[in-house]
Amino acid sequence: MTDPNARKTLALIAHDGKKQTMLEFAREHQAVLARYDLIATNTTGRVLRDELGLAITLMLSGPMGGDAQIAAQVAEGKIEAVFFFIDPLAAQPHDPDINGLLRICNVHNVPLATNAASASYMISGRAL
Ligand code: PGA
Repeated sequence: MTDPNARKTLALIAHDGKKQTMLEFAREHQAVLARYDLIATNTTGRVLRDELGLAITLMLSGPMGGDAQIAAQVAEGKIEAVFFFIDPLAAQPHDPDINGLLRICNVHNVPLATNAASASYMISGRAL
């Protein structure tokens, strides 16, 4: 049985063209984010850790399998919500992994924000 008092985990991922947007989002909502365990793909996580001092568990970089690692944790029910800022204007070498993560979130009905507007909406709501 899951412990209702256990800290919940959020996953943070941003494509290169969206890392600045992710940093601004995380800065604005830092107080909320700090209440959660955070995991992130490698480069995204390093930016947030170095710039904001957030404690973040780093996965592999997205193109090296980080998205797939996060998808596995979503499938296992370990992730409360995913903030995945996708750059729709740049081709990504790991497109299959990106689609896999989106699919797994939808399979398991896990909240998923793919842009800053929906992320802000989600994090300011009472559900998180
Ligand atoms: P990164 O991976 O945080 O290591 O850059 C993100 C991605 O491109 O999926």
